[in-house]
Amino acid sequence: MARDYDVIVAGAGAAGLSAALSASLAGASVLVMEADKQVGGSSRLSGGHFYAAGTSVQREAGVMNDTADDMYEHYMTLNQWLVEPSVVRRYCDLSAPTFEWLKNLGVEFKPEGVYRSGVSSVPRGHRPEGAGERIVEVLYGHCGNRNIDFVFNARASGLITDDAGRICGVRTGDDVATCGAAILSTGGFGANKELLGRHYPQAAKADNWSWYIGSPFAQGDALAMAEALDADIAGHDRGLLLVTPGFSRDLEVLLPGWLVMVNPSGRRFANEASPYTVLGGLIEKEGGHAFAVFDEAARAAAKPSAISRAYWVNDVLAKKADEGRIARATSLVELAKQIGADPNVLEGTIARYNADCARGVDSVYFKEPASGMRPVLTPPFYAAELRPAIICWTGTGLRTDADMRVLRRDESVIKGLYAAGETVGSLHGDRYIGGGGSYGPCVVFGKLAGEQAAVYTQNLQARK
Ligand SMILES: Cc1cc2nc3c(=O)[nH]c(=O)nc-3n(C[C@H](O)[C@H](O)[C@H](O)COP(=O)(O)OP(=O)(O)OC[C@H]3O[C@@H](n4cnc5c(N)ncnc54)[C@H](O)[C@@H]3O)c2cc1C
Repeated sequence: MARDYDVIVAGAGAAGLSAALSASLAGASVLVMEADKQVGGSSRLSGGHFYAAGTSVQREAGVMNDTADDMYEHYMTLNQWLVEPSVVRRYCDLSAPTFEWLKNLGVEFKPEGVYRSGVSSVPRGHRPEGAGERIVEVLYGHCGNRNIDFVFNARASGLITDDAGRICGVRTGDDVATCGAAILSTGGFGANKELLGRHYPQAAKADNWSWYIGSPFAQGDALAMAEALDADIAGHDRGLLLVTPGFSRDLEVLLPGWLVMVNPSGRRFANEASPYTVLGGLIEKEGGHAFAVFDEAARAAAKPSAISRAYWVNDVLAKKADEGRIARATSLVELAKQIGADPNVLEGTIARYNADCARGVDSVYFKEPASGMRPVLTPPFYAAELRPAIICWTGTGLRTDADMRVLRRDESVIKGLYAAGETVGSLHGDRYIGGGGSYGPCVVFGKLAGEQAAVYTQNLQARK
């Protein structure tokens, strides 16, 4: 039976556009179904940073000897080996070649945009000129040059299989388009409360503090479509939650160094200036919330800064204390009682911290004094609750092999079904590898899924 297209791609973010383009470059006819009225999804809103090892731009920036092996070792160690090694390995191996592919397509990366984006000592984050939107536009432009068909306002809703269990079509509304292979790249499920409850309880727990910064179309549609074919789901309770005091819906990812962060019993437990990639996880381990303690002198001195314009600013803090959103007390003992902490623990913690401030060193967590360390001495004292609650991306998704083929729960492959981007669950562990660790794999695995799907459909043809 003649098919409408070799490959159908559901979802046109960075992953889907990379998949469509690479499938077309490999000789496949391609249809892209996009639920929105335009391409881009969360990728368009994103910084578009790309985490990769061994790139030409790293070398231009003086990072001469980074390798896929080093990236793999760091990735696996950071995640305590609780990820699929084969998928991580493939990402590491393909990160630099795919980065160069994207660069050659016309996305500009400058050496000054290479930075340490996670907790590794090696700078692997690559900032693109024009952020995620530029990447989307470059990919989409190339798709246009290759006669790839796009349908908009077309939400894929089901997969059709033939008698042999192979994918042979994709449904959208009452229509079906037939194909040899399908690539699911519908993004994550950050905008879907029900799926957050099921797959990302840490995020769901944050309750009305929680909000999602990505596309409203991030409904996790790929999960239901593939689960109907018994697809396996990988990576429970994973994603990136950014820390917030919950005052408003402003996206600020770092805490100012003048705050003292304590756990619910009143003990300090981390460097307040920790990278955002690990901060949320550190608070999660303390029970899902913590408190930022400071004194009146710190509050009064808090001016809008590069780190904070919306939250950690003197008049905002005074207003939130007046509204009861921040605890305020004339003594640390009273402050501890208000937040349910142990007064002895809080007093001891602050005494030790104040002594460190006097000596100009953070003897326990090595916070840089230059980050703004200051003692907590002048009443009234304040404590603002913090929660990891801003949902940036979700990490639970379809389980795939290293060729992006979607796996059933019995480890068999669903023939002709591929996944890429945030839809994939096999990659992310408990810790975010670093800025660019979500966008990078979207492009890497989008390109790979497109190539694999094209080859698969060519083999189907050859068998006829
Ligand atoms: C504000 C922001 C900043 C970020 N910054 C970074 C960063 O700098 N570095 C980094 O690594 N990560 C970052 N992330 C995360 C990263 O951008 C995303 O994980 C990534 O872009 C997801 O790409 P995707 O292609 O998988 O999904 P998306 O880009 O969301 O694309 C999915 C597409 O599928 C469409 N769709 C959904 N359902 C269907 C359906 N049923 N049928 C058809 N189409 C459908 C959607 O409309 C959308 O267009 C950021 C995220 C946000 C929101």
